[in-house]
This record gives sequence, C-alpha cells and structure tokens, in this order.
Amino acid sequence: MSPQKARILLVDDEPTLLELLGDFLREQGHEVILADTGTKALDLYNSELPDLVLLDLKLPDLSGLDVLKHISSRDDETGLIVISGVGSTDDAIESLRRGAWDFLVKPFLNLEFVLHSVNKSIEKVHLKRENRLYREHLEEEVQRRTAELRQEIIARKRIEEDLRRSEMRYKELSLTDELTGLYNARHFFRQVQAEVERATRYNSPLSLCVIDIDKFKRYNDTYGHLCGDAVLAELGRLIQKLIRDADSAYRYGGEEFIIVLPETPREEAARVAERIRTTFFEHSFYPKNAQGVHVSLSLGVTSYCPGESVSDLVDRADQNMYAAKKCGRNTTVCK
Ligand code: GH3
Ligand code: MG
Ligand code: MG
Repeated sequence: MSPQKARILLVDDEPTLLELLGDFLREQGHEVILADTGTKALDLYNSELPDLVLLDLKLPDLSGLDVLKHISSRDDETGLIVISGVGSTDDAIESLRRGAWDFLVKPFLNLEFVLHSVNKSIEKVHLKRENRLYREHLEEEVQRRTAELRQEIIARKRIEEDLRRSEMRYKELSLTDELTGLYNARHFFRQVQAEVERATRYNSPLSLCVIDIDKFKRYNDTYGHLCGDAVLAELGRLIQKLIRDADSAYRYGGEEFIIVLPETPREEAARVAERIRTTFFEHSFYPKNAQGVHVSLSLGVTSYCPGESVSDLVDRADQNMYAAKKCGRNTTVCK
C-alpha cells in the first residue's frame, strides 16, 4: 500500500533530532508538529489530534511512559512509536505494555528504518479507522433493519388481525355449513321464527323434522373422522335432494340436522322423514375399503301448535328424535 500522508506529533527533548527527523518526515509529505516537553506533547495531542505520535521516553518534565499511557488510554486509533536513546529491554517491554505500537532505538543511523515503522503505523491507523467506521455502519445497518423488521411485523400483525376480523365477520354473516352445504344453526333460528310467525298469521301447518345419525361416534372411532365427515356430507346431499323447494334443511349440531317444512302437516312431514331414513339406510359407504357399511338415522317429527314458542316446538321435535333412539334407533317418531 502506498504510504498515506499523516499528521505526526514528534516529541523529543533533543533539538537536533527534532529538526532532522521533522524535516525528513515533512519531505515524505507528512505534516509534522514538534514538542520538546511532555506537557507540550499532551497539549498538542489534545489540540492537534495527530494520527501518529513519535515519543521519546526521556523528557525534561514528564515521564515519557506516563505520556504514552495517557495517550493510549484516550484512544487506540492514534499510532504510538517510542523512540528511545536507552534501548533497554525493560523500557521496550513497558512501552509496549502501555500501548506503544513500536519501539525504535536512537541514534537513527538510517532514517529509512524510522520511515518503515512510521508507514506501517500510519497504515494501521487507517485500517483501524476504517474498521471502526465499518463497524459503526454495520451497527447502524443492523439497527435500521431491526426497525424495518419491527415495522413489518407490526404491519403483518395488523393485516392478520384485519383478516381474522373479516373472517369472523364473514362467518357471522355466512348462512351455510361448509361440510354439508346446508344452512347452519344460526340461520335456522332466524328462519324458524319467521316460519312460526307466518304459520300463525295464515293459520297454516308447519312441521319440523330433527335427524340424528345413529351410533356416529362409533363410526368415527372405527373409520376415522374424515370418513365420518363423508357420511355427514352424503346425508346433507340426500336431505337436500329429498325435500321440496319450499322446505329448508339445516345442520343443527355436529351430527344433527333439522328440516323446516312450511305448509306441511305432521303426517306428510313424517313421510318425508321416512323417505330420508330409508333412502339413507340403503346407501352403502365404503370407509377405508370396508364392505358396504350402512348408517341409520333416528328422526323426530312434530308440528307447530298455535300459540307455542319456537323453543317448545324445537324441544318437542328433539324429544321425538330421542324417543326414536329409545325405540332402538333407525326409526321416525312423530307426535
Ligand atoms: P346416538 O346413536 O345415541 O346418537 O350415538 P352417537 O354416537 O351418534 O352420539 P354421540 O352424541 O355420542 O356422538 C356424536 C358423534 O358425532 C361424536 C362426534 O365425534 C361426532 N361428530 C360431531 N360432529 C362431527 C363432524 O363434524 N364430523 C365427524 N366426523 N364427526 C362428528
Ligand atoms: Mg347427536
Ligand atoms: Mg347420533
């Protein structure tokens, strides 16, 4: 690397050396500041911020080692070369211990030797500075990216929250059950209320049919939940196929369905229920390659009695379905 120009503080109590070495370094293109005492050296170090200090250990006022320690404790980016007329090993070791980068022994018979050390030190000064700037830049970069990431995380959380809300809103608004394609229970309660009001107003018959799959837990346990889901989907499809346009079917619970049959007397509703029961029972399922498996239903049918509440009506249909269970399942009870 070509030697870079530097500001050098040269500290020595020998005027001839100051002049000789100072001129020599200036000839190399460096800026040279001279100090012949320790106190001046420290003042100039503080005011001129040199890149490199060449420091004699023997000074008239302060100990060179103290000056050395002071400077090296202030920063580690200023090069420090000790120039000593004594050249004892102890001095050399102590100088290096206190932060000197190099230790040169006077007299200098060949100034090129000094120049070599000076150039090496200046190179090191620049490397250290570049290193620090790079580290600072890296830290800034890390902080900037961390802040950016934090913002991204906040933004993503906001989007997720919005999505979650709109999903919830969508579910609230949705009328249908995903698995069976039938209406869901929430919609049932809205609709049955409206149908009860209509039946009351026009004094028309209104029937309900509650359907529950028999021993469905066992089916799930034997063939797995997904095969159970297929049964639910098939039942949904079949119910939809067998009811009239005016009727509406709902997935009421996990494996319970309910049909609202407006303008339909109880006996006619019972016939629809029976058709669903028998047709469904005829259907063969082949879960996990099993032989054709048949699944039965228990159904409870009832009709609206003028003046009663929706919950009374639904409860009675439910009780009839439970009565069908008690009768041995695969049955419709209509009361
Ligand atoms: P019962 O004849 O008395 O009705 O017996 P059951 O086993 O059908 O009744 P139970 O209430 O003990 O069990 C209902 C089962 O329905 C348990 C549950 O795992 C299953 N189930 C409910 N919802 C779903 C669903 O969405 N998918 C599947 N595969 N199974 C469901
Ligand atoms: Mg049930
Ligand atoms: Mg059941």
